Amino acid sequence: MFMKSVNIEQIIKKTIKQIKIPKNKKILIALSGGKDSALVAYFLKKFEYKIEGFHINLGMGKYSQDCLKSVQELGELLGIKIYYYNIKDEMGSSMCYIRSAVQEKHSTRGLKNCAICGVIKKWILNKEAKKIKDVSLIATGHNLDDECQTFLMNIFKGSPELSANTGVITRNIENEKFIPRIKPLFYVPEDKIREYTKEKKLPVVYEKCPCAIDSYRIQVRKFMNTLKTGKKLNLIKNFEKLYPLIERKKDSRMKFCKICNEPSRKNICKKCELVEV
Ligand code: AMP
Ligand code: ZN
Repeated sequence: MFMKSVNIEQIIKKTIKQIKIPKNKKILIALSGGKDSALVAYFLKKFEYKIEGFHINLGMGKYSQDCLKSVQELGELLGIKIYYYNIKDEMGSSMCYIRSAVQEKHSTRGLKNCAICGVIKKWILNKEAKKIKDVSLIATGHNLDDECQTFLMNIFKGSPELSANTGVITRNIENEKFIPRIKPLFYVPEDKIREYTKEKKLPVVYEKCPCAIDSYRIQVRKFMNTLKTGKKLNLIKNFEKLYPLIERKKDSRMKFCKICNEPSRKNICKKCELVEV
């Protein structure tokens, strides 16, 4: 079977090789305080990449306090510099508050918690990473289960093109103001990550975000949990074969958002469309 013959370290090494990261480039790791991004930091450090961390304090009570503490401990353990962004200080309110305001303002669109939070986090990461010297890539902890889940949700929605930018490295986006994002755990199943981080006793929060309550996402996750790792890998690998077809349909030209000047496909970026307009 897949995971018995290949260990997690080898899979990550192979994935990173696929991305071809030069060792002299700095990678900024988006550290949530959870197991996935902690493992990315652990291995990139082990493989001797130049890394720093970036944590967004979402201001969500005890959950965020615990996440912050885990990130601080991880930084000390691995000896890496970590940048902290406090959403309350920078954007005026906690993620819960911002999200509720967006949902109220766009009440007919049925926007889900994780979707809004995801757009805002990506916007913050790109904008802030550019302020840090020499950052050439942003690494996130997205794993095989996350990727299958998102891909399936996009298919069920009838919008496979929404998956067109995803992969081990963001694709279709060429813009000097955009820092490419990489996913070193793209082929690693969640249960193995949990097992490994526990074995290594990495300081992480295992609880899920208290706001991840989208029932549809949970339903897809439950279905995913019935699949064996090999099936999940098949799903994602077959999707990778379809990338070229989807890419052709996409308009890959990037512009700059008229409000925040960040890279955007439309005149106004997704974050500003939700929060500012
Ligand atoms: P999620 O969207 O919560 O599943 O997180 C996916 C990835 O985004 C994580 O593995 C992290 O790399 C990054 N991320 C999520 N939350 C944060 C945060 N508060 N600060 C920094 N990075 C984050
Ligand atoms: Zn914008």
